[in-house]
Amino acid sequence: MTAKEWFLRLVRKLKELDEARNYTCDLCKREVFENERLCKKCRETLPMIELGCPLCGRRVREAGVCLECKKQPLVVQRARSCCLHEGGAAALVLRLKKGERFLYKTLAEQMLPLLEREFPLADALTFVPMTKKAEKKRGYNQSRLLAEELSRRTGKELLDVAEKRKETKAQKTLGRTAREENLKGAFHLFKRKELKGRRVLIVDDTMTTGATAGELAGLMLRAGAKSVELLTFTSVEDKTLHRSEKRKS
Ligand SMILES: [Zn+2]
Ligand SMILES: [Zn+2]
Repeated sequence: MTAKEWFLRLVRKLKELDEARNYTCDLCKREVFENERLCKKCRETLPMIELGCPLCGRRVREAGVCLECKKQPLVVQRARSCCLHEGGAAALVLRLKKGERFLYKTLAEQMLPLLEREFPLADALTFVPMTKKAEKKRGYNQSRLLAEELSRRTGKELLDVAEKRKETKAQKTLGRTAREENLKGAFHLFKRKELKGRRVLIVDDTMTTGATAGELAGLMLRAGAKSVELLTFTSVEDKTLHRSEKRKS
């Protein structure tokens, strides 16, 4: 190893240690207590979902199943998310996807209590795979980082059983039929046996339509998984309800 290589390695190591220790809030950069990821104020202003649909977990105004689920239920039996995809929560997801890898810890910390409360029976965690090309470009798969961290923290096994074989377009830009077409054949399970009888929890950063996780869940259920559920940090609000409310006002 040359002196320069040694020095660069040292700098990288120190940077990693610094990220792990964290001195400032990941949102506002104010000083925080050691090992805190967000300051009290930023934590309190995250758009937490207080009342969610019992099936998809999206925020609802009145208790009960949301309109989206009445129209077309998700493939996953149940989904839950911590926050609405807005404000500080949306900013964290975007930054995590744009290279600020270390933020997976911040998200996982918020997701942990929800996992423990809502999915005590899940016996394996998994993630939404990316195509090799996309993962190489980003340098990591944030869904895998979240699942790995939550697996470390809960002791639940991490299943690495799926791969993504083709690139898909953003689901929200497509109509229902185009969505199904877009996702068809996107995922492949290379370890089907490991899924037999398991209660699987898919971990991801955001739920938009739920169709991507649904495609993966469908394959897992057909491979013999007992149940497949979904935990995300944010979810996009029920648009149908939003529109009808806007019309009223
Ligand atoms: Zn802050
Ligand atoms: Zn719902």
